[in-house]
Amino acid sequence: MWYNNILETIGNTPLVRLNNITKDVKGTILVKVETTNPGNSIKDRMAVKMIEDAEKAGLLKPGGTIIEGTSGNTGMGLAIAAVIKGYKCIFTTTDKQSKEKIDALRAFGAEVIVCPTNVDPEDPRSYYSVSSRLERETPNSWKANQYDNLSNTQAHYEQTGPEIWKQTEGRITHLIVGVGTGGTISGAGRYLKERNPGIQVWGIDSYGSVFKKYKETGIFDKEEIYPYITEGIGEDFLPKNVDFDVIDLFEKVTDKDAALMTREIARREGIFAGNSAGAAVAGLLQLRERLDSNSVVVIILHDHGSRYMGKMYNEDWLRERGFLKDEKLTAQAILRK
Ligand code: PMP
Repeated sequence: MWYNNILETIGNTPLVRLNNITKDVKGTILVKVETTNPGNSIKDRMAVKMIEDAEKAGLLKPGGTIIEGTSGNTGMGLAIAAVIKGYKCIFTTTDKQSKEKIDALRAFGAEVIVCPTNVDPEDPRSYYSVSSRLERETPNSWKANQYDNLSNTQAHYEQTGPEIWKQTEGRITHLIVGVGTGGTISGAGRYLKERNPGIQVWGIDSYGSVFKKYKETGIFDKEEIYPYITEGIGEDFLPKNVDFDVIDLFEKVTDKDAALMTREIARREGIFAGNSAGAAVAGLLQLRERLDSNSVVVIILHDHGSRYMGKMYNEDWLRERGFLKDEKLTAQAILRK
């Protein structure tokens, strides 16, 4: 039995019980480990769906160029699909992103333009603005626009949601997801709520992002916006893919808690996941009082730890940010001091 190409291996990711970190939490705590996708993240699913929908709509033509502002994972999915389908890729990203993520995009032949993080989305230097300009200037190009392209949500409605329903045999009571574009939570959440409207859908947000306040007050508060470290979740605008009606609540997690929990997942569960996985599990622990012994919780782990070797998996990086204070140093780090 073989696959015809690597894209056919996307999806059907494992659902794994957490046994140590959540030992004292009531209910069954499961994580959907999206690192087994070929681009090592959940974003492969929506990347292929966006491309195939654009092909069907005649927006993306043979030999065309795919353009996107991407924090890396969507770019990986698009870059891999572009190799198989014969497209070129140009990505814009921010200087906040891991060097590992940027190098990985280049490994698949994509061109990557790094833009400053701390400018408004409307600023001509922002990665949104640069990608829009490239789309205008590049012949036969198509901008995927993952934030507002609803094929993103649809991919998770068609794949991620049904997989979770099947893997839990319909027993899921809570879905917990870090929210960036909103595609994962909105698509999977909508599917699951259609099957059982009682399922709670909780979004994980960052301090420095607008989602939680907007959900609670309906106000887009610019005061909420400031730079933060956690990658992949939180935004300074409202993407069309965030369906606030599907999401019951947002919980914010600090950069430090997200970083340290990412390490805990590796050390105590043997799962090598990315920064937003740590945020999501830390968010669950903050909300644990709402669970009972019948709860069946599914937490999405969006991407792989290898992209963060120079970040939370590096003790110097943690120390520079004051994140190591409460953590016991490894022997290696103690010797270096
Ligand atoms: N975690 C990581 C590492 C991501 O790259 C993303 C995508 N921005 C998310 C979480 C959030 O997923 P979504 O865009 O589907 O809301």
